[in-house]
Amino acid sequence: MRIGVLGGGPAGLYFALLAKRADPAHEVTVVERNAPDATFGWGVVFSEETLGALRDADYPSYVEITDTFARWNAIDVVYGGRTVRSRGHVFSAIARRRLLEILQRRCLQVGVELTFHREVPDLDTWFADHDLVVAADGVNSTARRLLEPHLRPTLDVHRSRFVWFGSDLPLDAFTFVFRPTSHGMFQVHAYPFDADTSTFIVETTEATWKAAGLDQAGESESIAFCQELFAPELGGHKLLSNRSLWISFVTVRCQSWHAGNVVLLGDAAHTAHFTIGSGTKLAMEDAVALSQAVARHPTQLEAAFTDYELERQPVVERFQEAARDSASWFENARRYDGFDPVQFACNLLTRSGRIGHLELTRRDPAFAATVDRYVAGRLDLLVPPPPLFAPLGQRAVTLANRVALAVGAEDDAADGRLANAAAGRLAQATTTGAGVVVSELVAAAPEGRVTPGTPGLWADDQAAPWAALAREAAEQGSALALRLGHAGRRGATRPRRRGVDRPLADGGWPLLAASAVAYTPAAQVPRAMDAAEMDRVTAAFAAAARRAADAGVEVLLLDLAHGYLLGGFLSPLANRRRDRFGGSLEGRLRLPLRVVDAVRDAWPAERPLWAAVTATDWARGGLDPEEAVATARALAGHGCDLLQVTAGQTTATARPDYGRLHLVGWSDLIRNEAAVPTMVGGNLTTADEVNTVLAAGRADLCLLDPRRYNGP
Ligand SMILES: Cc1cc2nc3c(=O)[nH]c(=O)nc-3n(C[C@H](O)[C@H](O)[C@H](O)COP(=O)(O)OP(=O)(O)OC[C@H]3O[C@@H](n4cnc5c(N)ncnc54)[C@H](O)[C@@H]3O)c2cc1C
Repeated sequence: MRIGVLGGGPAGLYFALLAKRADPAHEVTVVERNAPDATFGWGVVFSEETLGALRDADYPSYVEITDTFARWNAIDVVYGGRTVRSRGHVFSAIARRRLLEILQRRCLQVGVELTFHREVPDLDTWFADHDLVVAADGVNSTARRLLEPHLRPTLDVHRSRFVWFGSDLPLDAFTFVFRPTSHGMFQVHAYPFDADTSTFIVETTEATWKAAGLDQAGESESIAFCQELFAPELGGHKLLSNRSLWISFVTVRCQSWHAGNVVLLGDAAHTAHFTIGSGTKLAMEDAVALSQAVARHPTQLEAAFTDYELERQPVVERFQEAARDSASWFENARRYDGFDPVQFACNLLTRSGRIGHLELTRRDPAFAATVDRYVAGRLDLLVPPPPLFAPLGQRAVTLANRVALAVGAEDDAADGRLANAAAGRLAQATTTGAGVVVSELVAAAPEGRVTPGTPGLWADDQAAPWAALAREAAEQGSALALRLGHAGRRGATRPRRRGVDRPLADGGWPLLAASAVAYTPAAQVPRAMDAAEMDRVTAAFAAAARRAADAGVEVLLLDLAHGYLLGGFLSPLANRRRDRFGGSLEGRLRLPLRVVDAVRDAWPAERPLWAAVTATDWARGGLDPEEAVATARALAGHGCDLLQVTAGQTTATARPDYGRLHLVGWSDLIRNEAAVPTMVGGNLTTADEVNTVLAAGRADLCLLDPRRYNGP
């Protein structure tokens, strides 16, 4: 087979080496525009997992690469005037130039032809008569551009700016530095790659970069700026430039990685933000997979490409997802202003979901214990409890731990009276050891029921079972949180075991909402509330709160989410009013805040008032993150002590994103931008997930589903 490889980076060289090794009869040529010893960038990091794949693919280059590695196990986070060190990680790095040298030498040993100083303008000039063309021409791939209609690439340009320097500073840890300036935050990602040289990447947001005048600065001015800004860390050492310019990272994705006899490899096919340091690893693993697929199907390239894509695309997508989380973490790092440096470091280390509390404890028990002490608020403890067991104080109430248990609805109430079976489910939940048990929705008014079987608190005779439950919860060392709400346009539906949001065939009641817009095409069109109805509903919420207080309920959770009445006022998709209760966020907040004020007045000052809020409608034209944060601030300002962060359900046409821990990022946003404690659920299933969320300061309480939970 005649194989032409476009690009002599790690992907192209490694593939050429492996393909030639697999069958020495292949004629393999690499064409590279640069000189053999030219390189952009400095050192690249590898995680330990990569090494097995490299060892099995080509042992001699594996030995040479690993012999050259700089290895270390610590991460330093310089933040808020302190350096926090976490140990037990495994990093190896190598100068990119050394890596290419090793691969070039191995290529020559096995008989690959290497051609340097040749720009490849198109695929015909060099590769017209080749059987297989491997495009490993990097992030700005010419091949990808030429074959765009077949490969269908998307290029996502990140908003932050970075510059990739070297430094003669010898480091002994992966070092993150966060330096606030009058223009905004600058961050460093630095790591050693040989005995006396380190990679030193400086990153900042576009706005900060411009405010600091760096958009007008040349290379030497940029170096001088960064050198001065990071003088304390550099300690007299120099930053080294190699055409080091401020650029924006581009995440590349392609629907297909091949067209005809051309196949993409490495950065040409996909990139993953540099903050997870995996680009070279992914590129070299691509080379292993493609060479093996070609060896399996030497006469059927289409089959080889299919195998290659089936193997690699899911792996790459996983890394790109982690990289997206990691990149956005660094873009939003200012959110954590004021964090304790230890919790900040923990949040950083767990940012992409690849490491959790358990893994941190395994890697560095002392570090994990410091985090646990911080969360517990007990710096004196030799053996602190894991975050899950840290008590949470809210006004005069102290929850024994950070687990909240949500008890689902069975729609079995009669005329708003809680059914014995429902009371039994709640009582059972209080025996699990959870710090707080959260009830199903309790309607503040009869027309606010979701189904005829929704319990309510609009009459005094509905309070007795709640009083009994509150007593039982207290006896068990738990607390009862009553979820008070009004279903609005999601009311008058059939029991949910018969399907959600299916209107009652008969026996329905007139619905109220912000606007006369039905929840689903089949649903009843609600009446847009008038002033008198707003007064009546506000009074009903206050009266229900008073009944709950008299019953001894310890926590009241107002439901301002889930597309119910008050959530419907908040969302621009459900609230189309033109009066002072609609329009801007201020208008949309008016009725919900009026209800919060009335409830806060009716609810004892020493007991916590919580609210469930929607962070995103998951629909075009819905709430944006800034509005969600502003809503959270407003609620906190009106006396809400903690917010349950939810997403979606405002409109039936939403496109939900039920990924792993899908609400945790939203909780992090609300908690840390609005400075208000949060509770988060969303398929949290393990104690490790709970501990990780709490340790990193992404929420203060974790809401679990009892069907998946057996006690802390
Ligand atoms: C700031 C930054 C930091 C990074 N840090 C890390 C890290 O720590 N760890 C890590 O694993 N990865 C890191 N990466 C990513 C890593 O550099 C790339 O993922 C990796 O180099 C991809 O290898 P490749 O062979 O696919 O592409 P490249 O290394 O880009 O190689 C492509 C080659 O093709 C050549 N070429 C392109 N077009 C033509 C043409 N028309 N004619 C001839 N030759 C051409 C280029 O000259 C180049 O040599 C980082 C990236 C950035 C931007």
